[in-house]
Amino acid sequence: MQASQRISGILGGGSDGWDVFNKAREMIAAGTAVTELTIGEHDIRTAAPILRDMHRAALGGHTGYASVPGVTALRDEVARRVQERTGVATTRANVMITPGGQSALYSTHVAVCDPGDRALYLDPFYATYPGTLRGAGAEPVRIQTRAEDAFQPSAADIAAQAKGATSLLINSPNNPTGVVYSRATLEGIAQVCRDHDLWLISDEVYDTQVWEGEHISPRALPGMVDRTLVVGSMSKSHAMTGSRIGWIVGPVEIIDHLVNLATHTTYGVPGFIQDAALYALNLGTDFEEEIAAPFRRRRAIAQKVLAAQNTVALVPAHGAMYLMLDLRNTGLSGEAFALALLDKHHIAVMPGESFGEAAAGHVRVAMTIEDTAFEQAIKTLCAFAETCTSKA
Ligand code: PMP
Repeated sequence: MQASQRISGILGGGSDGWDVFNKAREMIAAGTAVTELTIGEHDIRTAAPILRDMHRAALGGHTGYASVPGVTALRDEVARRVQERTGVATTRANVMITPGGQSALYSTHVAVCDPGDRALYLDPFYATYPGTLRGAGAEPVRIQTRAEDAFQPSAADIAAQAKGATSLLINSPNNPTGVVYSRATLEGIAQVCRDHDLWLISDEVYDTQVWEGEHISPRALPGMVDRTLVVGSMSKSHAMTGSRIGWIVGPVEIIDHLVNLATHTTYGVPGFIQDAALYALNLGTDFEEEIAAPFRRRRAIAQKVLAAQNTVALVPAHGAMYLMLDLRNTGLSGEAFALALLDKHHIAVMPGESFGEAAAGHVRVAMTIEDTAFEQAIKTLCAFAETCTSKA
């Protein structure tokens, strides 16, 4: 018996870019202490008051099937939050609650792409993007951004691929680069979407992690509200990765279709998780800042270490919990550098090549360990890069 082409083709062949990560995990299993700066998960767990509220909701009986579009009070709160932050009129009819941002990425593509439709996305990309697009039945079309442009996408490059395409997926603040798209970048992207009648799927799961400048939601740009689907999540903003809670914000007609899709796939999100999510959102921006603060601090620590040397360059990182380090001075690929760093110093970082071709010769560092150990790891990485250069 054979699996469908759609599902067996999700990975698209080739390496999935997790070799360094897997090797680090093997070393750890064999008893070696490894400093892991690989995946985007906080070094804190979900805050106890949120868990207590989840417990309260579950004991209170919210354990049956929950409303498929999402609990009304939570949809209202998401709508209020989005309207307040973007100025775009938003009601609960524009909001569907999803089991995390990942599910929202998949459903939004199913919602706008027919089988074989060209779905554009930008390189470097979050690791699941091409598989998500293939899983949704679309043909993923990758558009390179450039290190020379600090990984700000070029509207002209997108326009060159836009003819006959259906959708464009963007992500700002960006994983893996940490780049926050400027207003000019987003206006250029919006123009291409209007000119070529593209749906814009805007992955904004890092919207509370902005260190410099501002996060602009492209749904707020002229002519974009009817063609933009925003993907949101509480994984990063509230350290709730395991709760699987996020949302899609978009035009009412598409949200209605998405509710049909959810009815026939997930059948919604557990009610006690939704209640806890509402509780967490009501903790307000102070709480979001508290969750983001360690990454803001560690970015400053890394900037200081990096300023004291000339081998490793930092891609201008204005948001998200990652730093993209340019190691092209060493003459090594990101993967060769990452493997050597793991072997020699037991520090695991993600090769830039794991995220496509545009970040070759770079590595991504997740700022997800305690400050002192983080500072030491960045110092060791820089010193090691220096030794690689002298050999090159
Ligand atoms: N988008 C990006 C850019 C991400 O980095 C992640 C998680 N690492 C997601 C979406 C999905 O997050 P979740 O499903 O936990 O909401």
